[in-house]
Order: sequence, then structure tokens, then C-alpha cells
Amino acid sequence: MVIAIDGPSGVGKSTVSRLVAERMSLAYLDTGSTYRAATLAVLRRGVATTDEEAILDLLADTSIDYDERGVLLGGESVAFDVRSDAVTRAVSTVSAHPRVRAEIVEIQRRWVAAHDGDAVVEGRDIGTVVFPHTPVKIYLTASPMVRALRRAGDSEAQGEDVESVARKLEARDHADSTRTASPLRPASDAKIIDTGDLTIDEVVEMIVSYAATTG
Ligand code: C5P
Repeated sequence: MVIAIDGPSGVGKSTVSRLVAERMSLAYLDTGSTYRAATLAVLRRGVATTDEEAILDLLADTSIDYDERGVLLGGESVAFDVRSDAVTRAVSTVSAHPRVRAEIVEIQRRWVAAHDGDAVVEGRDIGTVVFPHTPVKIYLTASPMVRALRRAGDSEAQGEDVESVARKLEARDHADSTRTASPLRPASDAKIIDTGDLTIDEVVEMIVSYAATTG
């Protein structure tokens, strides 16, 4: 069974999804890392982030895969490089191209199939597009300020003030939720959890019990 966990940046998806996967002994896929690896390839090759055709050509001869350390680009472990500021700034433009998304969604579905269809899958369009038939769809939300405060505490935002983190999160959420292809939004049958006043453990507990009764 797939447990789909969607929501905006900085809402706590990765932490929560990892813990849910651990609790339920399921594999865990962070689908943002597939888009980030494609974006890293685009930046390394000097391809324009707006050029869908050129990005498709690039993806046709670049493999994106996973091993136990995380995402691989052409066999190289890039789990660290994909978190760079340059990738974070460019990723929403690359991921807005519909045919690029179609290629990337195939990589994600193949990965889940290789894990016998049992995984916690985290992203923006998992419940709406990637696995729309899974019964367990979660959509995490929190106010922009709560998310900015959380993200400002992350290692990748160290030294940055909360206002600057908030502005970047808002820009990315705006791009992700207003794009035509698979915009960020809850599936009509998703369970929506506002994580603002909840601890991580409480959110994990809610998802695990929801999965037990719904899945
Ligand atoms: O989750 P993360 O912040 O790593 O995602 C990076 C970007 O990848 C998002 O801002 C979004 O543009 C894109 N993404 C997406 N669909 C997903 C996961 C991520 O479009 N399922």
C-alpha cells in the first residue's frame, strides 16, 4: 500500500514521512529529490530551466535512481548536492514542465513498483496524480510563519533570517500551486492535518492510526 503525504515546503513532510515509514516498516520515497536531481543535471549542463525540450533531451541520457544513501544522478550519489540553494531556487521552474513531470513520475512509480507497491511517498502531487487510487492520502498544512520558523531551523537555512526564509518559501509555494501541470493541492479525499499546534510525534501517530483504519 502507498501512503501518500503531500503539502507545501517546510510543513514537516520529510521528518513525518520518514518516521511513519519507520513505524510501519515501509520504504520511503522523497519525490522532491527526483525533481531536485533533474534540476542539478540541468544546472550542471548549463541547460536553460525554461527549455522543456532541452531538459527532456538531457533526461533521456541521464539516469536518476536511488540507493540506500538517497538519490543518484548518472550513478553518482547527489543527496547532498541536490539540497543546494541554486537547486532550490531553480527546481520549481524545472518541475513546472508537464512532459518533464511525466518522465519523473515514471521514475517514481517504477521505484514504488520495485518495492512491491508498499511505501510512504512524500511530495506535492502524490495523492492527486502519482498514486490517485491509494486510499491513504494525507495533506499536511501549517501557516507560512510556522513553516518559515521550522525551515529556518534546518541546516540548509542556517544563518538566514526568518523573513528571508519566509519569502523564499512563499515564492516556491506560489510557483508550485499556480502551475498548470499537477499543481500543489489536496486530493478531494485527502485527510488534511494542520501541523501548526501538533508535535511531530502527534502527527505521526495520527497518520499511522488513519492508515490502520483506512488502508
Ligand atoms: O520537497 P522539496 O522541497 O524537496 O521539493 C522540491 C520541489 O520539487 C518543489 O518545490 C516542487 O517544485 C517540486 N516537486 C513537485 N512535485 C513533487 C515533489 C516536488 O513538483 N511531488
